[in-house]
Order: sequence, then structure tokens, then C-alpha cells
Amino acid sequence: MIRPSLTDEALRIIGRSDDPPRSLESVMEQIADEDRQRVREAVESLVRDGGAFDLEVRLRRASGELRWARLIGQAEGRAPMTTRITGTLQDITQRRQIEEALRSQARTDPLTGLYNRDGILGELERRLGDARDGCTVIYIDLDRFKLVNDLLGHAAGDQLLISAARRLERCVGEDGLLARFGGDEFLAVVDDAGRDAAETIAARITQAFSEGFRYAGEEFSITASVGLARHPEHGRTVQQLVNNADAAMYDAKRRGRNTWQVFTPELERQQYDRVQVEAQLRRALDNDEFRLVYQPLVSLDDGRTFGAEALIRWHSPSLGELPPDRFISHAETTGDIVHIGAWVIGAACRQMADWRGAGLMPSRVAVNVSYRQFLTEDLPQIIARALDEHGLPGSSLELEFTERVLIEDAPDTLRTFQALRELGVVLTIDDFGEGYSALNYLRRLPIHGLKLSQAFLQGVPGNPSDVAICQAVAGIARSLGLEVVAEGVENTAQRTFLLDLGIHLGQGFLFAKPLSPDEFAAHLRRQGR
Ligand code: C2E
Ligand code: MG
Ligand code: MG
Repeated sequence: MIRPSLTDEALRIIGRSDDPPRSLESVMEQIADEDRQRVREAVESLVRDGGAFDLEVRLRRASGELRWARLIGQAEGRAPMTTRITGTLQDITQRRQIEEALRSQARTDPLTGLYNRDGILGELERRLGDARDGCTVIYIDLDRFKLVNDLLGHAAGDQLLISAARRLERCVGEDGLLARFGGDEFLAVVDDAGRDAAETIAARITQAFSEGFRYAGEEFSITASVGLARHPEHGRTVQQLVNNADAAMYDAKRRGRNTWQVFTPELERQQYDRVQVEAQLRRALDNDEFRLVYQPLVSLDDGRTFGAEALIRWHSPSLGELPPDRFISHAETTGDIVHIGAWVIGAACRQMADWRGAGLMPSRVAVNVSYRQFLTEDLPQIIARALDEHGLPGSSLELEFTERVLIEDAPDTLRTFQALRELGVVLTIDDFGEGYSALNYLRRLPIHGLKLSQAFLQGVPGNPSDVAICQAVAGIARSLGLEVVAEGVENTAQRTFLLDLGIHLGQGFLFAKPLSPDEFAAHLRRQGR
């Protein structure tokens, strides 16, 4: 039997100064349950083989208090019959507390007190390691946060992030983990065995943001876009899960924000597609892979061409021929659209000048301008330079942009419109009716016209709700003095319907498909223009 003989200091540390333990077993009882087995094994090994041990363990004091101690033991006499162990006991509670504080600081976001990126990724890694029930990663991005931050300053932005964090905490509940993932992004990890399904939590999050935020007496509406990816179906590694939840979030954002979306195989395919396209896009401009085709804009009364819409085409050596729907949105995400768009403007102006030089006189060429081009400051400059270089009046260029321009976080939109208007270029809202139809903007914007989306023309004249929308758009345009161009005119019934509505301009396969520059010139010559 090993009899412990403890120093006064050791007795103090274990809290047994008044009642020194008489047996090794009684000392063992002081050691916290989680650590006891380790100590027992170390002692046994010492008795058997001699040597020494050095362990950090938790001690449970008689008072119930938990302390950290370093326990060093050494065998005296020869193995295998050691009869005496000398040991040292050090109270290391304070050191362990500081270490723990540092560790937790490294895993905590100082602003919100939530986990930070490293912290939650570490936790997620651990959860995936424990073979237990599945869990779901929820990626949350605040919509339009940047706008508030820019307009009101960082103090307001910080305040908003803190309030958002508190709301998210309530939504995620105690079972889930929540982190500020960076900037205005948050990440939650919830157990599938938890009280609420991840979908319920996601719905609760978007709901929680339907109420505005207050700052300095003003109210701001900030919504959240949310994406979900479930382990193991949607990814087995931390990286896959986070990427796929991000892709789902991004899809939610694209579908109009303030909503949530679960990752799907279709998104996976799109993501693959996106990576491919984005990689090729980067080189496409330098490699001269783009060209423009021109669809005649015609008078619906007599079919005569008065202008053209320039439409981009991309021939990639590795991906083949891609229509704009396959790459414009990717180019918008990466920002490549800014350079591509500038190229389109230059090329369309050069073409217009060439036609004029050849004695052909279409009155204007329309180009599509992405909302991203409005976010850069020098759109008016790029256009002024292109007109100047090719000796064209502003009125020979038309810019088509979608309603997205109006809702993006661009504080200078109105100023940009004004500058463009001063250049004399024609400003038109494309695909009108499909987007957000922020009708109150229409009066304030210095625009000339609307293009009625072909989505509505398709059902005309048979579908009553399409008919109603076409009538409404024609009515709005008339009362605001705006020109209307109908797109996607495919048959004479549609043509007649439009003329009856008082819409006299259009484009569509009924008149001509998009044409190469030579075909377009031939088309004009046939009309005697
Ligand atoms: P959009 O500006 O609304 O262009 C009209 C689209 O309708 C064109 O498709 C055109 O080929 C197609 N279309 C024309 N007539 C008919 C018709 O009678 N029936 C049907 N079903 N379709 C018709 P495309 O060329 O594939 O372009 C698609 C979209 O891509 C364009 O829609 C525009 O939003 C965008 N886009 C095209 N070129 C550019 C560009 O240079 N820059 C930017 N940012 N976007 C572009
Ligand atoms: Mg267009
Ligand atoms: Mg359109």
C-alpha cells in the first residue's frame, strides 16, 4: 500500500489542510472524474516500471471548487517494487485560465462576441469528426448593408451588425452555433437532431429581418439572404459545406434577396459551369473572342428599320458558342462586365460610324449596359470618349439598362443619369415589367423610353393577364411621355395588337433575327436606306 505524505502546500492546493488523506485512493478521489483514469495509469506504470510522470489535471476541492494542478511524480527505489513516490503539486489554475481566455479570444469576433471565422470552422471540423447525426450549415448575408455603412458611417454599421447578431442569436437558439463570418456575413451550424429543423430556422431568420433597424432615430430596412447546405448530402468537408451554403445564399440573393434557399444538385452544376465560364471570360476580351450582332429596330407600321440593338456573342475556343444568358451574369459577378461593356460601347460606335461612312443611315444603335457599369464612376466618360472618337452625335447611341440599376447600392445613380442625358444619348429601361417595377422612380429619372419585356408579349393576344400588363405599360408610358419599343414580336397577331395599343416601334423575329454587320447592311440596302 502506498501511503501518501503530502506537504502543507499540497494539502492547501487540494483543500485538505484540515483533513490530510490517509490513502492514495483518498487522494485519487480529489481528482476530477475526467482525469482520474489518466493519473491512475501513470501511478501504476510508475510502480511497475519506475520513472516519472508530469500531468496537468483538474482537482475537485472539498468545497466543490475546481482547480487546475500540475502533478509531477517520481519513483524512488527500484522497479518493480517501488514503495515510495515523491511528488510535487503546483496550482496552475491562473495560467490555465489565461490560456483559455487567449484561446477563446482567438476564436471570438470582438464586435459581436460571436465566434469568428476560425472559431466556427474549428467547431464545424470537430462536429464533422464526431460521427453523430447530420448538421446543417446556414450562410447568412445581409442585403444592402454596404449602403448603410457608406451612408451613415462605420459607427452605425457596427451598431447594425451588433443588432443583427442579437436577432440571429434568437433565431438560431441555444442548440446552434453562430459566428460572424466576416464583414456582413454570418454562419450558423445547427444539428439536425436539434429542436428545430434548419429550414425552420432559416425561415425565422428572414422573418426576423422583416422588421427595420433603428439608428439615431431613423429606421433602415436591411434584409438577409440565407443559404443552407446539409452534411453529408451537400458536402462532406468543412470547405464543401461552406462553399455550397454560400452558393445557395448567392442564389437566394439573385432570386430577389430576403429569402432562403437549400443547396441543390442544379446549383452544383451551375457552380461548376460558373467556374468554367469565369476562368475563360478573363481572357476572352484580350483574345478577341467577342463580336456583336445587330437586330433591326423597326417601325411596326411599315416594317422599316430605324435602328439596331447590338447584342453580344462569345465564341470561346474551349466552351464553344455561348449566348449572353450563359455568361453576362457571371461577368457581372466577377466585374469583367465593366471592361466587356466598354468594349461593346466602342465596337457599336465604330460600327455605326462605318455604316454612316458607307452611306447607310440607321438613326441609332442601342447597346445593353449592365448595372455593374453604372457602379463604376466613369460610364459617362467612356461613352463621351467613344462618341467623340467616332465622330457621332449622342443621339445616335441608345443605352438599355434593366431596373436592377435602380435598386443596386449606387448612391450616384441619379447623377450618372443626368451626365448621360447631357451627352444626348437615348436612355431606355429594358425588359420593363419583369423586374421590380419601381414605378415611383420612373418620374424622377431622365429617361426617354421603355422596352416592353418579351415575356409579356408571348401570351398576347390570348392570355388576359399578359394583355393587361401590356396595356398598363402602354398607359404608363403614354402618361409619362415615354417611347415604347416592344421586343420579341414574332407574329402578325402581336404586331396588330401592339399597333392597336398605340405602340409603333418593335423588334423581333417577325422582322429580322440578330444579323452580322454585313447582313445588317444588306438588310438596310434592301429597304433602300
Ligand atoms: P435583351 O436586351 O432583352 O435582348 C433581346 C433578346 O431577345 C436577344 O437575345 C434577342 O436575340 C432576343 N430576341 C429578339 N427577337 C426575338 C423574338 O422575336 N423572339 C424571341 N424569343 N427572342 C427574340 P440575346 O441576344 O440572347 O440576348 C439576351 C440578353 O443578354 C439581352 O436581352 C441582354 O439583356 C443581354 N445582353 C446581350 N448583349 C449584351 C451586352 O452587350 N451587354 C450586356 N450587359 N447584356 C447583353
Ligand atoms: Mg436589350
Ligand atoms: Mg429586353
